[in-house]
Amino acid sequence: MAYTTRAVSNEGLIAGLVRSGILTESAVKEAMLAVDRGLFSADGQAAYEDAPHSIGQGQTISAPHMHCYALQWCWRHNKDARAILDVGAGSGYLVAALSRLYPNSHVLGIEIVPELVAKARQNLNQFDDSLLASGKVDLVVGNGWKSLNERKFDIIHVGAAAETVPQELVSAMSPGGIMIIPVGRQNENQEILVIRKDAHGKVHQDSMMGVRYVPLVKERQ
Ligand code: SAH
Repeated sequence: MAYTTRAVSNEGLIAGLVRSGILTESAVKEAMLAVDRGLFSADGQAAYEDAPHSIGQGQTISAPHMHCYALQWCWRHNKDARAILDVGAGSGYLVAALSRLYPNSHVLGIEIVPELVAKARQNLNQFDDSLLASGKVDLVVGNGWKSLNERKFDIIHVGAAAETVPQELVSAMSPGGIMIIPVGRQNENQEILVIRKDAHGKVHQDSMMGVRYVPLVKERQ
């Protein structure tokens, strides 16, 4: 991808995102500097390249520029989110970054592959062992289509592509809330949508860019 940087440290990676004009929000920069991506990827120094990397189980940690865009869309929309959901939490990176960006929030990460949840818990504890212990962050094995139990969220981030926008997740947005979600079939054009729900519950959506994400599965195979 055109944005690829060859940094060998988290600071270098963030500096590259700033240089390329992608990272412009200082609060997001602080959060990304605080969360060392190397703790969330098994790829050693390659973790600091602006590219997706394997996290096992056929899944990937998204590229840093995608994490950066997602965090900035959230931040520009809402600087005081309290209830945050990350569906398809994978490595746990974004759970950690969202928790740093929104220190007064609770972040719930849902991930369908139990082995990845176990690893993401280790990653999060290495990063900051008070996050899970204090209950500021929860990471659960579950299916993002149906584990929500009527809860409402100010921010929903979805880390895997659904063929169409899941209405279950739109219902889980609080008034004034925002959802970042990649949509589209595998191996076809996918786009990342920013969906906003206004105070009256009316939903607006914008397509931000073409993307390639692993599928948001309905059931674990
Ligand atoms: N933001 C994560 C993305 C990981 S890849 C990161 O950067 O590390 C997307 C993840 O979504 C995969 O780990 C996959 O197992 C998970 N996933 C797919 N369908 C799911 C579903 N229905 N519910 C919860 N997690 C799901």
